[in-house]
Amino acid sequence: MTTGILAIQGDFEKHQQTLETLNCSTLLVKDKNHLQQCDGLIIPGGESTTLVNLLKKHGLWQSVHEFGLQKTIFGTCAGLILLANRLVHNRLDSLSLIDITVERNAYGRQIDSFIDTVDLQLNHKKLNFEGVFIRAPKIVDVGKEVKVLGRYQQSPVMVENEHIMASTFHPEITADSCIHQYFIEKVRKNSHDRS
Ligand code: GLN
Repeated sequence: MTTGILAIQGDFEKHQQTLETLNCSTLLVKDKNHLQQCDGLIIPGGESTTLVNLLKKHGLWQSVHEFGLQKTIFGTCAGLILLANRLVHNRLDSLSLIDITVERNAYGRQIDSFIDTVDLQLNHKKLNFEGVFIRAPKIVDVGKEVKVLGRYQQSPVMVENEHIMASTFHPEITADSCIHQYFIEKVRKNSHDRS
C-alpha cells in the first residue's frame, strides 16, 4: 500500500515524515503518474489559492477529483478548503468531495495562529490532541452524511465521509501520530473494500 502526499506546495515533508514513522510507504505526488501509484493521498496545508492554480497547471485537478471519488484523501487546512463543497466569502474552485461549508482565515491573520486542545473521537475513543491552527479555516456547516471526528470549543474541526477526511489544524506538526494512523487504516480499509 502506498500513500501519496501532494508535493506541489506547502507542508508536505512533515506529513511524509509522520507516515514513515508509522512504517507506511509514501510517494511525493507531483504528477498524474505518481497519483496512479497511490492508494491514498494527503493534501497538505499551504495556500489554497496557490494550490488550486498549481493543481491545474500540473494537470492534476481533474485526476485528484476522480481519485477522491474512489480512494481516500486527507486534507489538512488549505487541503480541507480544497475538498469542501462550499466556501463562504470566497470564490475559489473546489474539488467538492465533502459536504461541508468552510470559511477561510476565519480566526484572523497569520499572527492570530494558535495551539490549543482539540477533542477527538476516533474509533469510539475520546482523545485530546494538540491542535496547531495556522491561519486556519472554520467549518461553518456540516452535511448530514458527514461525521465529526474532532471539535474545538464545541465546533467541528475534523470531519470525514466515506472516502474523505479533513482537518482545519495541522496534525503533522504534533508528535502524536494517532490521526495519521487513523488515516492509514481508512486507506487500507478502502483499498480492501475495492479489491
Ligand atoms: N490560510 C490558508 C488558506 O486560506 C490556509 C493556511 C494553512 O494551510 N495553514 O489557504
